[in-house]
Amino acid sequence: MTYSNLVFPDIKHLVEKLHFNPEEGKIWLAEQRTVLMGLGALSSFRKEIITTLGMARAKGFFMRLGYYSGMRDAELAKKLNPDADPDQAFLTGPQLHCLRGMVKVIPLALEYDPAKKHFYAEFEWVDSFEVEICRMSLGQLDEPACWMLLGYACAYSSYFTGLDIQFREVECRGQGDQHCRIVGKVASEWPDHEEFSHLFREAPLIDELYELQSRIADLEQSLGYPENLPKAIGEAPPFTSALEMIDRGANAEVTMLLIGETGTGKEVLARRVHSMSSRKDGPFVAVNCAAIPPELIESELFGVEKGAFTGATQSRKGDLRGLMLELFF
Ligand SMILES: [Zn+2]
Repeated sequence: MTYSNLVFPDIKHLVEKLHFNPEEGKIWLAEQRTVLMGLGALSSFRKEIITTLGMARAKGFFMRLGYYSGMRDAELAKKLNPDADPDQAFLTGPQLHCLRGMVKVIPLALEYDPAKKHFYAEFEWVDSFEVEICRMSLGQLDEPACWMLLGYACAYSSYFTGLDIQFREVECRGQGDQHCRIVGKVASEWPDHEEFSHLFREAPLIDELYELQSRIADLEQSLGYPENLPKAIGEAPPFTSALEMIDRGANAEVTMLLIGETGTGKEVLARRVHSMSSRKDGPFVAVNCAAIPPELIESELFGVEKGAFTGATQSRKGDLRGLMLELFF
């Protein structure tokens, strides 16, 4: 059916479904619990999402928010108009947008023929809440700004008709046009319908982060950075020059003596040398020599045979036995 002079049904039948129950802290629109929220909070939230995710991701994020709302309102529209003509019942969606205070919708054209699977619609949006929140925090955009409203229109029309419908906002006051105007058609009639449909798919950032983490690990490995390199943190010139010297020596066949006060990080640096050396696949043995009595240090390090001295009741390997090619701290 084609309408040349589209007129909405009386909105009274929808207003009657709106119930405020402040004693219980609830607002109901038919069976949907709903909330009142000021534009100031939404405006700040949109700005934060754009800052966090970038403009393209934020657009998809808000379009999906509108999409979920449109899906539910399509169910609601069918329930509220069980006996109405499908094309009359369809107009409940744009009227719900008006009732929710999101935008004033002026229908310009609607051609909906379920038998022929034909759909074409044009609506003008007046005083879109999204144009207003963009003005509050973002200023004029260089693309249409009514993302949630557009997502809603796509989902509502698709779920109501059972066809895959896509809308485009062909004019938007958010980008400096005189009006906001949308055009809806069966998706396949839009040349860019596949690319557009990606906006409605979830795009979890976490998968990308894991992939990037994996790529960084591969790159580090190909650059020869040892895995789990012990962290030596410091900016003082004497420290950084000592660190450079230690790193240079780690791959060389040299003896290295690290000295310093207790707690200055000798073991951290020793572990770093081990991790960067050709002996990194062998064991790292830390021995606190100061805790070993002088008369026992030889047996502790190099082992002892049973009966070698009083108290040596059995043979025992020392900490350094078999580690002569490894690193000893
Ligand atoms: Zn707009």
